[in-house]
Amino acid sequence: MKKVLLISAYLLCTAFMFSQTTEDIVKAIEKEGIENSQLEQLAYELMDLNGPRLVGTPEMKSAHDWAVNTYKKWGITAENQQWGTWKGWQRGITHVDMVSPRVASLHATQLAWNPGTSSKGVTASLITLPSFTDSLSFVKWLPNVKGKIVMVSMLQPTGRPDENWEEYATKASFEKMKSERDSLEKIWRQNIRNTGYTSRNINAAFEKAGAIGIAQSRWSEGFGANKIFSAGTEKIPAVDISLEDYGMLYRMVEHGEDTKIKIVAESKDLGVVPTFNTIATIPGTEFPDEYVILSAHFDSWDGGTGATDNGTGTITMLEAARILKKVYPNPKRTILVGHWGSEEQGLNGSSSFAEDHPEIVDGVQALFNQDNGTGRVVRLSGQGFLHAYDYLGRWLEAIPETYKNEIETTFPGSPGRGGSDYASFVAAGAPAFSLSSLSWDYWNYTWHTNLDTYDKIVFDDVRNNAILTAILTYMACEDPKKTSREKAVLGINPRSGKKGEWPTQRKPQRKGGQD
Ligand SMILES: [Zn+2]
Repeated sequence: MKKVLLISAYLLCTAFMFSQTTEDIVKAIEKEGIENSQLEQLAYELMDLNGPRLVGTPEMKSAHDWAVNTYKKWGITAENQQWGTWKGWQRGITHVDMVSPRVASLHATQLAWNPGTSSKGVTASLITLPSFTDSLSFVKWLPNVKGKIVMVSMLQPTGRPDENWEEYATKASFEKMKSERDSLEKIWRQNIRNTGYTSRNINAAFEKAGAIGIAQSRWSEGFGANKIFSAGTEKIPAVDISLEDYGMLYRMVEHGEDTKIKIVAESKDLGVVPTFNTIATIPGTEFPDEYVILSAHFDSWDGGTGATDNGTGTITMLEAARILKKVYPNPKRTILVGHWGSEEQGLNGSSSFAEDHPEIVDGVQALFNQDNGTGRVVRLSGQGFLHAYDYLGRWLEAIPETYKNEIETTFPGSPGRGGSDYASFVAAGAPAFSLSSLSWDYWNYTWHTNLDTYDKIVFDDVRNNAILTAILTYMACEDPKKTSREKAVLGINPRSGKKGEWPTQRKPQRKGGQD
């Protein structure tokens, strides 16, 4: 009897000590994250000073070097690991002006990997697309583009976002605008189909026919926001023009004015360059071959500075690693931070890593990825792992209410098939999760747009996420059990009517833009 009492007293005591320690560490993480936050400084250095991080650019490489040096300052080992090569390119000065019938400087940006012009640029008249009945009529018209700059986007009927119409328009005029826009879009799409080309490959046809430039406007349905991707031309400049300026030019051309613009776009072709992931590690003391991975893609598109895609995910993981190194320097399991390259072209950095390091994938205790903007984490799915509820639930318990009270969990959930880098690990069977943020108008205003800049970062939300990530990581490192990888039985896919299957690992593209 006495012995039993003693044992239970001992058990109670160790349980109490454990919870004390957990609570102390959680408090210390919170304190460090709030009182000594480095987020503003990190964001300044990465977004303002370094700039956007398009794969293959010198700015991507300098960002990788910056990350390694930043970790070094904190006493954390880090290195750049090459996984492939990419077409090397550097953005230069873009300046686009209307020069006839009057002079105006335009809001425009050269598209990624687009060949440059000389510093004198090219000057030419604009041409819009007429309506085509079929591919024959397109072929007949095509010689008209010779020596011209072709306007390849539809004229938008309004530059105001729908929320703005909803607030101020009469119901009738809002409905009228929407139905007009729908029918314009339908006609536009049908017209492109009639040419026998798609909006993706038609620019190459214009180029072949002797056009000397491409002008597009890819409006993102928000005030001032355009999406800026790559060009699809081999030799001639291609620029994206703001909705406002594009609309003005378009109306002038349609009214029969000889409308000329001048494009200066001084980008450089840098041949073929190596491309990397930055990997940082805090070695585990008890289970060094088991890993808790902090994951966020490091690359971006380059219309803005990639602040919310994925600067905020990046600084969340940097800051979580910094806090952990200070508060919890001897983790039981190895903490590994993956700053992946070329997520934007198809999860290439992370899937290369998964392919090159099967022993690390086997040792994954958990991976936490963040990549959908600056907002507080509000969704967490079990990604189809049957027992995710068990361990994620346990870890979440240690987190103070304020960091988790908005998180909606889904268990077991279904395995991610893309979208961001956790999918590269889920496909390989490793328990990888997405810390999914609330929107802050991500899709229209910042995702891949010219407006994805420092000022859109909501630092209090990112601070929330860095602390949350650090605590989850600490709990995953300390868990006495290795996490289960057992997969849930997947339901019937309503579209195919077939039983759902676990996603397969994708083959990374290791030689980008070099065909
Ligand atoms: Zn992203």
